Amino acid sequence: MTDLTAPIFTDADKAREHLEAQRWPDGPYCPHCGNADRLRITKMEGEKHRPGLYNCKECRKQFSVTVGTVFERSKVPLNKWLLATYLLASSKKGISAHQLHRSIGVTYKTAWFMFHRIREAMRVDTANAEPMGGQGKVVEADETYQGKTKETRTQSVDGRVKYQNKGRGPANKRPVIALVERGGKARSFHVHAATFDVVEKIVSQNIDKESRLHTDESRLYSVSKVPTMVAEHESVKHSADEYVRGDVYSNSVEGYFSIFKRGMKGIYQHCSEKHLHRYLAEYDFRFSNRIALGVDDTDRANEALKGIAGKRLTYRRTSEALL
Ligand SMILES: [Zn+2]
Repeated sequence: MTDLTAPIFTDADKAREHLEAQRWPDGPYCPHCGNADRLRITKMEGEKHRPGLYNCKECRKQFSVTVGTVFERSKVPLNKWLLATYLLASSKKGISAHQLHRSIGVTYKTAWFMFHRIREAMRVDTANAEPMGGQGKVVEADETYQGKTKETRTQSVDGRVKYQNKGRGPANKRPVIALVERGGKARSFHVHAATFDVVEKIVSQNIDKESRLHTDESRLYSVSKVPTMVAEHESVKHSADEYVRGDVYSNSVEGYFSIFKRGMKGIYQHCSEKHLHRYLAEYDFRFSNRIALGVDDTDRANEALKGIAGKRLTYRRTSEALL
């Protein structure tokens, strides 16, 4: 357990040095032109400059460690950002913006924006990430439905799963598909509808073709093109009380969903649909960097800090000026 009164959480200069060590293990590089030549980068010393400012001799621009990150131009001191990152990274099921607001002395609204930015830092860019699984490795897939509505699930002849809300509109249906590499990482997706097309796209974009895929008996996987997209597709028949057959099971992905559901029910009850993908990024991140994989709370928080670059622009849509 990291001491929450540690200097990086209480002193903005120490926090900046810590962030520099995480982002620039080989020394600073210029975010404007990419220059990483130490001799061509000088630290701006003296009272005239704000601390942590560097000058690039290549492009003659100045920068600090937060340029191009989700922390850039924030009025919240960096040590509070690091504390918020640590708290979100180390909480088992998540932590509410209300609790952050009380813990670190920022307004509720600021706490809410901070957590969403940190979730953005935790998000895996699946389009450019390594595929999951590989030869001989097992990836488990499953779907769940998040939200308050009581839904009845039906499946039509063509295999399309349909949901009927009692007196509620389709906006309350929140299908989530998750992939978990056994003994490895998780990726989950909030999809508009859990259909053949959607599942096929997710499998093709995220799972190595040499993998074995384990699911339950859902037609989404068995009747679609999915079995041809992996080395082997096997399923257990939950409806016939079959949960494990040899090494075929989907317990890992079900374990993932159980943490996700407990957190969404206990902590993030009021999550709106448009933000669901960010909460999923948070759960994916903690699961993928869990203690069973040798990642402790401190490592996990540092891993999140490494993800803060290059994502600020994608989050500009929300009114970050409020921070
Ligand atoms: Zn430069």
